Amino acid sequence: MAARKTAQVWNGGMTGASRPPTAHTRPRECREPHCGEPAPAGSQRARMVRVSVPGSREPARWYCRGWCALYGQALADVQAIGGAM
Ligand SMILES: [Zn+2]
Repeated sequence: MAARKTAQVWNGGMTGASRPPTAHTRPRECREPHCGEPAPAGSQRARMVRVSVPGSREPARWYCRGWCALYGQALADVQAIGGAM
């Protein structure tokens, strides 16, 4: 069915994005040495993504590309939403 296929395409690549991560639990073990480390201003890590959300209680951190970076971004966003706590 064309409609069903369209829905699948629409959801493609966003699978699981609407489900918030469990607080402070890594999605899976990551063997990257510096993944999740704090990323103070001026620090640099090759091939890592710096995740920093203004107003978030979650400090800037380095994550490896892919799921870890997406997870880190989501975590920082959640911490920003509950910033008054
Ligand atoms: Zn990682």
